[in-house]
Amino acid sequence: MASFNPKINDADVPVIIVGAGVFGLSTSLHLGRRGFRNVAVFDKQQYDEAQYSYLKGCDAASADFNKIIRSAYGEQTEYQDLSTEALQAWRIWNNELENGSCVPEGMKTSDRVFINNGNLSFTNQAELPPFELASVHNLEKAGIPNTQLITGNEEHIALAKKKNISYGIDPFDCKTKGKSYIGVFDTTGGTAVADKACRVALHRAKTYGVQFVLGLGKGEFESFSYDSAEKVNGIRTRDGKTHFAKIVVIACGGWSPGLIPQLDGLCETTAGSVIHLRIPPDSPLFGRFAPENFPTWTYRVRDGPEGGLYGFARDEQGYMKIGYRGTKYTNPQQQADGSERSVPITRYTENEQLTQIPKQAMRVMKAFVKEYLPELAAEGINVSFSRLCWYTDSFDNHFVIDRLPGQSSVLVATGGSGHAFKYLPIIGNWVVDILGGIGLERELVQKWRWRHSKDDTEVVNKLMEGTASSRNLRRVPLTTDHDLESQLQNKM
Ligand SMILES: Cc1cc2nc3c(=O)[nH]c(=O)nc-3n(C[C@H](O)[C@H](O)[C@H](O)COP(=O)(O)OP(=O)(O)OC[C@H]3O[C@@H](n4cnc5c(N)ncnc54)[C@H](O)[C@@H]3O)c2cc1C
Repeated sequence: MASFNPKINDADVPVIIVGAGVFGLSTSLHLGRRGFRNVAVFDKQQYDEAQYSYLKGCDAASADFNKIIRSAYGEQTEYQDLSTEALQAWRIWNNELENGSCVPEGMKTSDRVFINNGNLSFTNQAELPPFELASVHNLEKAGIPNTQLITGNEEHIALAKKKNISYGIDPFDCKTKGKSYIGVFDTTGGTAVADKACRVALHRAKTYGVQFVLGLGKGEFESFSYDSAEKVNGIRTRDGKTHFAKIVVIACGGWSPGLIPQLDGLCETTAGSVIHLRIPPDSPLFGRFAPENFPTWTYRVRDGPEGGLYGFARDEQGYMKIGYRGTKYTNPQQQADGSERSVPITRYTENEQLTQIPKQAMRVMKAFVKEYLPELAAEGINVSFSRLCWYTDSFDNHFVIDRLPGQSSVLVATGGSGHAFKYLPIIGNWVVDILGGIGLERELVQKWRWRHSKDDTEVVNKLMEGTASSRNLRRVPLTTDHDLESQLQNKM
């Protein structure tokens, strides 16, 4: 096992965290909660002002309208257990908002960071996929019964009715429309209100004394700084300053592989495609698609390029978000060391911006809306804007939380692989354990170790296919402004 020294055993040890997304925020607040007094978080994004809002210029995966929270993890009961742990913490965060004990500036006691409107995972196939069947079985086995409701099961339908959550059994009115479908409604989960949740995490960290250095230049990691023995002893930021620390945590999400070349073959950044439709408050659909009446959902999520869809109830402003991950796209670029790596490109990237998404993604999402949500087009509601949102995929979908090989003072916490947001309130507690050498034998900690796929490894995500890949954004047709305009004019 790689060395985990130096352990953190001194509350005054200086710790620098680079990245204020889910991994960095959560690590900082748990270090603060556990008594560490010398913790600073650096991020190039001005989250204090922009409040994790995509509309205000934030483009990290964590800076979003909403994310799905679910316990259903098929045979991966270790993540099911992690979700159970996280759900308890989400409820505490909600309670502390409600009772006024932890309300960030600009938020209200009526705000919530978790909405328990459930998640329906459904398909148009005749039978439930093995993943869903395993989730039903494993949550029962874990002593969390009657939470996974099968849409065609009369007892479960009755249970949903009794609990007043029937909306989750057939949210698209498939029965009325004569469409066959089958799914499992995971009643444990629902919606994380992502931007507000990050604001709460940042606020909680500050309450524990964590310092935040935010903004281009002063908050932007440029390189490590090294001592005379070539050991990392801090970071250099783009404003030319050096900041010393005993421990540096790199939690830069989709930007991590571009900063840490040792992640080659372990993690790659890939883009998910997202559209937002805006339902006006005076529309009859505003109530119909409110989170009290509509769950989060996934559709044929493991079915390749024609599937991989998910979506949400409308938010407070009326935005209904739909995402596509049936194909995850890459942006391979030659880097300073001569290697090619995928790097995020968004509406807000400094040197080159991308405001469009692949036509293929738009086609699959539009086809879904046409088939399952025709009432939107009937009301003249269409796509307001689209987004590319950057995952950090590991080859096996497990996170990466481990020391950088050869640099015992650097820990990398990344590889969210499209499912880490739900762990915002707790993942940092695990990171701090790992930093302190605590509980390293745990199954998840072992899965999160630095690793490489072998020739015969069956990978979940194929990484680093390079510029020749059919998923390279430079090679796929993208939507145009004209497409967007015509979508706004033409009913879907
Ligand atoms: C389209 C999409 C949908 C998803 N849906 C879900 C979902 O439904 N449920 C779920 O649980 N999870 C979901 N996820 C996964 C989840 O969003 C991520 O796992 C999580 O947000 C990743 O957090 P992070 O801290 O690793 O990265 P990020 O949130 O990307 O944060 C990285 C931070 O590092 C900063 N940074 C980068 N480079 C530098 C630098 N040089 N100097 C300083 N700062 C830097 C960035 O500004 C950013 O703030 C989804 C992800 C995507 C992309």
